[in-house]
Amino acid sequence: MHGSTWHVGAVLPAADAPPLGAHAITIGGDGRIAALAPCDPSGLTTAEAALVAMPALANAHDHGRGLATLACGVADAPLEHWMIDLARQPRVDAYDTAALALARLAGSGVAAVYHCHNTQNGAALLDEAEAVSRAARDTGVRVAFGWPFFDANPLVYGDHAELARFFPPERRAAIATMDQGLRSCATNMALFERAQALEHDTFALHYHPVAPQWAQPATLVAIAAASAASGRRVHTHLLETRLQREWADAHFPQGFVPWLDAIGLLSPRLTVAHGVWLRADELALLAARGVTVSVNVSSNLRLRSGLPPLAQIAQAGVDLALGLDGMGLDDDADMLREIRLAHLLLGQPDRDARGPVALPGTQAVLHAAWSGGRAAILGPDDGGGRLAPGAPADMLLIDRRRVAQDWIGHGWPADPAWLLARATRADVAHLLVGGRAVVRDGQVTGLDEAALAARLVAQARAARAATPPDTARIAQTQAATHAFYAAGCHCGQP
Ligand SMILES: [Zn+2]
Repeated sequence: MHGSTWHVGAVLPAADAPPLGAHAITIGGDGRIAALAPCDPSGLTTAEAALVAMPALANAHDHGRGLATLACGVADAPLEHWMIDLARQPRVDAYDTAALALARLAGSGVAAVYHCHNTQNGAALLDEAEAVSRAARDTGVRVAFGWPFFDANPLVYGDHAELARFFPPERRAAIATMDQGLRSCATNMALFERAQALEHDTFALHYHPVAPQWAQPATLVAIAAASAASGRRVHTHLLETRLQREWADAHFPQGFVPWLDAIGLLSPRLTVAHGVWLRADELALLAARGVTVSVNVSSNLRLRSGLPPLAQIAQAGVDLALGLDGMGLDDDADMLREIRLAHLLLGQPDRDARGPVALPGTQAVLHAAWSGGRAAILGPDDGGGRLAPGAPADMLLIDRRRVAQDWIGHGWPADPAWLLARATRADVAHLLVGGRAVVRDGQVTGLDEAALAARLVAQARAARAATPPDTARIAQTQAATHAFYAAGCHCGQP
């Protein structure tokens, strides 16, 4: 890789450091920042002067869907209802969908993403992982691939024999035995071993028990042990919805999160996504064990999950990361807008406190977006999340000309609070990952994004025409699972 030099009007070097003025940033052939030197602003072109350089963003929870759920007619709705609707998604090429998702993220300044893999074809998981590995190489985005362990509660949180009662007779046998067809932990561990051959510079495998309610207790135990032995990270959805909270409280009266701790799952290698329904004592335990919580505010809003307890997360001192979960507010994978939402929510007044509301600060949210999420994806020791000599050259350059068109101050605004208030993916000029310009002048460089998007949509339309979803069956499943939950069956009520 060749080195390069970037001249910019301002630098935001790290979450806990003040903005700097005009600089020349030199990238070495090793993909790291070689030098960061002040330069004469009068020597910059207008385009260079408008640029502000900052650490690249991390999206600490996503699913790699190039084709949006809304495009498939899956309307936003409470998670448990929405998940059944996902049957409307046509099967598409595993590379195309992952590559387009990564390209979109790169275009919004994301250099590293946690990809929780949703298998399209359970028999082809290894092939799908290979496709995502290739997509990571082609786009240049760093991907932690969450290898899915999903071996419990396929349709509801609870007894599927019980659930079968809510279906018409002809579907009961299949529903009652549906959890028997899931891939066993042993088979999955063996596949995971084989998949390690797919790893490369920007693609690594992590254990992904999809969620405690979607994995057998023995599987969680096996993953905790494997992670402790290998040092590989673990990522799981946790307490995303009220129904999950109710299930957990009913099934673990001795304490759900303490149980996860007792089996060894809570460690600095663990990231939990969502945590909307975590309680203060549980957050304190997560903080004590060094667990990272990746919150996904837009997704929670769209799927009616509730809002994550950001004030308590901050108070407990839990490591915070941010994710899009494939469900950005405007469905446009805009990580900058997601950061804005999290920033605003973090600063809202605590109902139990009194007096003047604390002044806003950007440090917590920028730390999450630059360092916290990155550590959850790449581990704590990669030296990124800041712009400094020796750090990986993962750098986002924002063009301030659009956001500052009505700015009446001198020069260009460089206050991160100001950028947080306005910047969107429209303002992403360039993105470097390991020194490679994966986005240049707002365009993804590793592939033809527009052609890929057109190909994916054409493919999905053809698949939809050939195999339309059975909407009556989907509606019937939704009605039955709704009745199951409404009767309290997920809490063990008869
Ligand atoms: Zn998710």
